[in-house]
Amino acid sequence: VPLVLTHFLDRAVSLYGDKVGVISEGKSLTYRELNERVNQLSHGLRDLGVKKGDRVAYLAPNTLEMLEGFYGVFQTGAIMVPLNIRLKPDDYVFILNHSESKVLFVDYELYHLIAPVKNELQTVEHIIVHGKTDDIYEIAYDTWLAQYTKEPFERPDIDENDVCSLLYTSGTTGNPKGVMLTHRNNYLHALSTMHHLRVSDRDVYLHILPMFHVNGWGAPFYYTANGATHVCLRKAVPEVIFEYVNKYKVTVMHMAPTVLNTLLQYYEQHVPTIEHDVRVVIAGSAPPPAFVTRVEKELGWEFIQVYGMTESSPLSTVSTIRAHLDHLPLSEQYRMKAKAGYAMIGCEVKVVNERGEEVPRDGKSIGEVIVRSNGVMAGYWKNPEATMETIRNGWLHTGDMATIDAYGNIDIVDRKKDIIISGGENISSIEVEGVLYEHPAVLEAAVIAVPHEKWGETPHAFVVVRPGKEVTEQELIAFSREKLAHFKAITGVTFVQELPKTASGKIQKVHLRNEYWQSIG
Ligand code: ATP
Ligand code: MG
Repeated sequence: VPLVLTHFLDRAVSLYGDKVGVISEGKSLTYRELNERVNQLSHGLRDLGVKKGDRVAYLAPNTLEMLEGFYGVFQTGAIMVPLNIRLKPDDYVFILNHSESKVLFVDYELYHLIAPVKNELQTVEHIIVHGKTDDIYEIAYDTWLAQYTKEPFERPDIDENDVCSLLYTSGTTGNPKGVMLTHRNNYLHALSTMHHLRVSDRDVYLHILPMFHVNGWGAPFYYTANGATHVCLRKAVPEVIFEYVNKYKVTVMHMAPTVLNTLLQYYEQHVPTIEHDVRVVIAGSAPPPAFVTRVEKELGWEFIQVYGMTESSPLSTVSTIRAHLDHLPLSEQYRMKAKAGYAMIGCEVKVVNERGEEVPRDGKSIGEVIVRSNGVMAGYWKNPEATMETIRNGWLHTGDMATIDAYGNIDIVDRKKDIIISGGENISSIEVEGVLYEHPAVLEAAVIAVPHEKWGETPHAFVVVRPGKEVTEQELIAFSREKLAHFKAITGVTFVQELPKTASGKIQKVHLRNEYWQSIG
């Protein structure tokens, strides 16, 4: 059997056909009903002339229409191009033209981002709008879909090595790159992830992470394959998250640390009643260690850290505690969970020095993380040079620096580009941020390198203060000197109202660097 993603929905329909598969905006659909809509979508796409290998783009938040898009597109053999909803109109022009997308589905709330640049789209032949279309002069999705039969769709031959998605990276460090993932990449990544996260048909998954970003991208695969229930969420705000947790008996959520932070803060201020236990919360992107204990102790939910990147489908490591380490004291276990974790099944993960040799497993020596796995992309779309630079001898060079301990747990020190070099010593901006998050007045913190006459570079913090609290620059500097080796302490603070973030909730240090340079003239 080829490892093709359509199998996952087929399985859900055959074993869980009458079970609620999706809850979205108050509506519930069984897996059978979901599948009928998926069939209608595939028939409709064929009617629009979409063929195997064509690109179909989506600009939508987490809705039913987005979720069904996955299987509707895959059944035709076409390639899905999900667009980040927080970009600027010009970025959409770039991505849609670069990916040569033929059809664009866009949510009515986001249509205004496309309207001004419609004439610049060179390959898009049809724009179809999800939801209300009263004032919008385009094809309305609901009426369009309703014309087509719910009967099974005759699929073309799809090979497991066919590309199924073009996912553009977050653009944290520069222009986003189009990552080509195959059916096989996503399929085997899903099998591994569902094992490590213990996904089952008892799960109710709340879509907090955007499906258009690689971190939320996998959920339609592993939760569907197991017949779990998807709960869609348009906007990840804490009051709605807690409401949904109770209302739909949510068992599992994945989220960016920045969103987790708002959740913890809301919990502290309002102490909402939680009538239902979430079994696990999963976060990547360097959650500060303080969050682990807060999630586990205050909320009583299990915390799991994962590490990955778009180029590897995305996950390569997971931080759940393996049974043979259960004897370790709880504090040690929390410290472990605050790391990225160990290699998942189907992934080989190494930490290597500049000569490509593995660094000792001492939890101290720093090297670059390299990954060889079933999830590693086929390459960057129309960019063979960047592909060759990133995948060398079959190993994905992540650009992330880490240590590895005796248990095989990797701990991400920093992106190569974000490491602060002070007096010849490497400083992890992530470590310094972790300490700042321990200060009661700090709501958010990001640390960047700034030039220093004597030391070359020193750490400088951008801080958002918790509402109702006060703190001075001197106090934070003193606090960091108390908690860290002196050479790692921050040497300055810029207080800000908010930090610039990508749609996936990542702090964009590039913008902070610009801001710093502007502030000093
Ligand atoms: P771009 O490549 O366009 O600059 P990006 O690297 O942020 O953007 P993603 O693929 O969304 O795009 O993010 C992957 C990166 O996120 C990793 O390379 C790593 O730097 C960071 N990351 C992911 N998980 C973790 C984690 N658990 N701890 C620390 N960093 C993490
Ligand atoms: Mg990257």
